[in-house]
Amino acid sequence: MTVRCRIAPSPTGPLHIGNARTALYNYLYARRIGGTFVLRIEDTDAARSALEHERDILESLHWLGIEWDEGPEVAGLPARGPFGPYRQMERLPLYRETAERLLREDKAYHCYCTQEELAADRAAQELAREAPHYVGRCARLTAEERASKETQGRRPVVRFRVAEGIVAFDDVIRGHVEIDTTALGGDLVIVRSDGTPLYHFTVVVDDAAMQITDVIRGEDHLSNTPKHILLFRALGADEPRFSHLPLILNPDRTKVSKRKVQTAVSAYREQGFIQEALVNYLALLGWSSGTEEEIFTLDELVERFELERVHSGGAVFDRERLEWLNGQWIRRLAPEDFVERVRPFLARALEARAAAGDAVIEPDEGQLEALVPLIQERLPRLDAIGELIDFLFLTEVRPDPAQLVPKRWDRETAVTGLREARRVIAEVGAVSFEADELDSALRRLADVRGWKAGDLFTAIRVAVTARTAAPPLFDTLVALGYERTLERLDRAGELLEGLEA
Ligand code: GLU
Repeated sequence: MTVRCRIAPSPTGPLHIGNARTALYNYLYARRIGGTFVLRIEDTDAARSALEHERDILESLHWLGIEWDEGPEVAGLPARGPFGPYRQMERLPLYRETAERLLREDKAYHCYCTQEELAADRAAQELAREAPHYVGRCARLTAEERASKETQGRRPVVRFRVAEGIVAFDDVIRGHVEIDTTALGGDLVIVRSDGTPLYHFTVVVDDAAMQITDVIRGEDHLSNTPKHILLFRALGADEPRFSHLPLILNPDRTKVSKRKVQTAVSAYREQGFIQEALVNYLALLGWSSGTEEEIFTLDELVERFELERVHSGGAVFDRERLEWLNGQWIRRLAPEDFVERVRPFLARALEARAAAGDAVIEPDEGQLEALVPLIQERLPRLDAIGELIDFLFLTEVRPDPAQLVPKRWDRETAVTGLREARRVIAEVGAVSFEADELDSALRRLADVRGWKAGDLFTAIRVAVTARTAAPPLFDTLVALGYERTLERLDRAGELLEGLEA
């Protein structure tokens, strides 16, 4: 039987890193084994679902390179696959028919209990220290009893009969699992009184209808699986193989939460994480190749991925490791590709500077390309580009006077240092204005004056960039140009002198 697996996101929020990892593992598994990867949108929670979230989910998956074989129509492209529609709200007739069938076969029943009755049951159970469960008040109503409830105007929900006992299954990752259904809350509501179906029901109806062979999803669904298995059985459908992926954890080992870890894939994208790094990181979040290797492309992952090698213990989200991987991946980009990807981040940084009242010069392509080798090595994230080179694109920088004076210097020495640097650079001249020339001339100056070269360079760096961290100094000066370098040294010197007055 050919493998069919799926990702079934609910568009109730942007694509979460946990769902992205689930999608990735499904994708890798399907690609490795020559199976089919299905995308299904589970949008039956109308109150919480939003089109904007669906768009975010689809775009983020696409950005990560996780392409599906079957799925709904998107952005004018038609739906793909023979089992559509792939949005649950477009499949309501199927759920209705299936619920009717279960009712006919007495595997489900109408329940007329009111909110008040259910609340009273829960309160009594709490008092008796019992786990909350449905007491079965409507499980055996006669036709007359039903008719009488109907005449009271009560609208029933549909409940599925959850047989008491042990449900067992062999999880690919966790091994043999047995769960006692008596602890699961009793008979399960599968259709609300307004006729809309609920998750546990639709997920099983669709996995059966779409002939899904493998359900690979987060461990948070583990306790749902026995309910799903009972539903598969009730429908007379084959049970898929289950693989429950380890939870993603906060650094303090609690379940990952928005307050402690950034969870939206789109937020990582906006911060200048690149897709290669995020895919690589998510792959390693719960799976290991069994070798020392850490850097994998999506295709390399397809070659190596095995569900059996997924860990069962929780996976702590380690932002530092992700940043490290991101830096590694940024370095690996071809220079032209890097320039392309970094450009919007630079534009955004400059827009912010302009909005803050700085005069901004349009980036010059030549300048940008010349600088690339200098910065590509140094960026942990693309959005750090502004901090690294915005000085190039500002007509004027405003160094912090305190930073202009290196620790071992006083203000007077800094004024002298900047003046002398200016003199020496002017002597080098516009024609010989190159990194090597500047390097030896300025080192000589430090020598003659008995300064540590690092102190002199710090003063110059702050004077021309207004930052303490920047690309290598002499390349920075060259990128800035002769005139602008002299001008900024003058300004910084004047600034310090002005403070003295
Ligand atoms: N819509 C469910 C979710 O987003 C799908 C769970 C499943 O894969 O069965 O959690």
